[in-house]
Formats: sequence, C-alpha cells, structure tokens
Amino acid sequence: MSLFGKSWTLFKILGFPVKVNPTWFLLFFLIVFSLSSPGGLFSAWLEQDDVSASTLWLLGVIGALGLFSSLLIHELAHSIVARRTGMPVGGITLFIFGGVSEMEAEPPTASAEFFMAVVGPLSSLALSAFFLSTWALLRFVLESPPTVYYLFFYLAIVNFLLAAFNSLPAFPLDGGRILRSFLWGISENLYSATRIASFVGSAFGMLMMIIGVFSLFYGGGIGGIWLIFLGFFLRQAAISSAQNVKMQQTLGGETVGRFMTAPPVCVSQDISIDQFVHDFVLPYHFSIFPVINDEGKLAGIIHSLRPGEINRDRWPHTLVKDIMESGLSGNKISPDTSATEALSQLSKEQGQRLVVVENGYPVGIISLRDLMDFIQLKSNLKTS
Ligand SMILES: [Zn+2]
Repeated sequence: MSLFGKSWTLFKILGFPVKVNPTWFLLFFLIVFSLSSPGGLFSAWLEQDDVSASTLWLLGVIGALGLFSSLLIHELAHSIVARRTGMPVGGITLFIFGGVSEMEAEPPTASAEFFMAVVGPLSSLALSAFFLSTWALLRFVLESPPTVYYLFFYLAIVNFLLAAFNSLPAFPLDGGRILRSFLWGISENLYSATRIASFVGSAFGMLMMIIGVFSLFYGGGIGGIWLIFLGFFLRQAAISSAQNVKMQQTLGGETVGRFMTAPPVCVSQDISIDQFVHDFVLPYHFSIFPVINDEGKLAGIIHSLRPGEINRDRWPHTLVKDIMESGLSGNKISPDTSATEALSQLSKEQGQRLVVVENGYPVGIISLRDLMDFIQLKSNLKTS
C-alpha cells in the first residue's frame, strides 16, 4: 500500500526501511507549532520561566523529534513481531497520521495477530513510563531547569496518549486488531472476524468525524479539521481492509491462468511507432501491449502513452523495439501464480495489466478488471 503517493527511504533500522511521506512534514510543522507558538503547550508551561522564543522553538523541534522517535519504536515493535511470525514487512512509513508498518499479508494465525498488535500500545506505555520516571528524576532529584524536564513530561504524556488512542477497538488500529484476533480465534473465520472488526472501525471513524465537526463549531480549529481527516482515513482503511480480505478469500486457490484473456494482442518489435499507433493503440485502447521478437517470444512491453513522448515526425522512422521497456519484471507473471499474488502485484504496479508469460512466450493478459469481475460474479452468486 503506498499511502498518499511516493515516500522517501531515510535509513534502515534492523533491516526495515524507514520511509517518510511528504505529508509527514505538515504533521511535523503542526506539532512544533502546537508546542512552541505563543498559544502552544511549552509556551504555557514555561510562561513564568522567562524562556526566549528561540529556546521555545528549539524545544518544540526536539519535542517533535522525540515524538517521532517514539512512533518509530512503536512501529518497530509491530514489525519485529510480524517478521518473527513470518509475515513480510515492507517497511515503516511516517506520514500525516503518524506511523504505519506495511504488512504485505494477513497474519498467519489469530495469536500471531494478537501479539503483533498488542506490542504497539505496550511499547508506547513502556516509553511513557520511562519518560515519566526520567521527568521525576530530573525534576525532584537532579533539580534540572524546567526547559529540560518539561520536555520529558511532554514525551511521557504523548506516549500515554498514543497507547490509549491505538488501543481503541477501531480496526485497523492496534485495539481493533486485538479485537479481530479474538473474534478470529473464536470463530476460526478470518473473513467474518474482519467484517465485524472493520464495521466497528468504520463506526469509530464516523464518530471521530462527527466530534471533529462539533469541535470546529466550538472553536477547535486545526484540531477539529485534523480529527475529521483522521476519522475519514480510519473509515477508509477499515473498509478497504475488509474488501482486501474478502478478495483474498474469493480468489483463494485460483491461479492466474483461469482469469487471463488469451491469446494476447502482441506487437512485433520491428514495426514503426506510426503503425503501432494506428493498428494497436487506436483500435484496442489497452494500456500496455506485449512486444514479441521474430520467434514470438516476449521481448518487452510498450505503454500506449509511450509514443506521445516521441516527436511525431520521428514516428515513421522509429521502431517499437527502440522505445519499448525490456526490463519488465513488474509487468510479468506466470500462469501458475496464485490469483491473490496477481492481485497484490496489480495493485502495486501503476499499469492495470500484467503479461502472462510461459516458457518465454506471452500467453495472455490479466487485468485488475478481470479479477474484479470474477469477485463480483462470485459474490452475486452467493447472495442470490
Ligand atoms: Zn500500532
């Protein structure tokens, strides 16, 4: 799942890439502002201590960095347990609503899900206890200046709030995952457990949006807006998680060969761009075409938008093989691959079609549409 577009990898920790999404900078700014601006938390706490504005801003930045380090530890705890139970983890992404560990599959068992989820709030609670005792030590034993101990007091509070918020039984928050693991353990049915958990999750999302709207009316400002967005995001995440599990359940046991369109419409590598546009792009409207060599084997793929990047005068003299993509690891799949694997590959790739290849020959095309139609058909048959 790529949240809100592209993310940059900052560094790797214990083998997990840590990525940051552009929206994260907005959150960072909002947090620093909420701490250090004249009406902010640190400004209020340190009002009597005659602290300069630049010190306040510096404290705000350190506080925000401390919060993000805490978030990272929370997500690392999830990722470590997930990896131990054999779940592939794509990495940790920091974005506008905090952090998320990218699990690339559902947990193998209900107990694996329980442990994976519960370590999140537990690690935040442990961090909160650590910061609280450091605060007490600094304040009462070492008698350090208030600028220092308030920083630890703040981190103790936010980690406690993080633990509390994530414990809400609102799937896919940690508490919701714990709820799902219980339901799954009792019913032994991941699908029905997910359906109930995501219903509760989307209800919580709705509630947050309503509270956000009310808080806007009562002068909640940016906090209200953020709550509305957070509720909306939670609701979407709950709904799409349920859809994902449903799709995986429906596609379970099926292979790509069953859904592909065969034979595929192939383009010879030696025709001109002119001919490609007139004989293929315009009549078929496909997003990509497999390109074949003289033996009929797959030589590459070509996107239908690719000729648009070439000057029109050059179309008659440029060949398909000159502008095709020959790497194409991501757009290729074998007919024996499971349909669920195809589904996750299709949602990762921007192009909505994959070339099905057997012994080097293109034997079909599979699209998101093909899989969706099947899921639709199967669920219609079940309900009727
Ligand atoms: Zn968590």
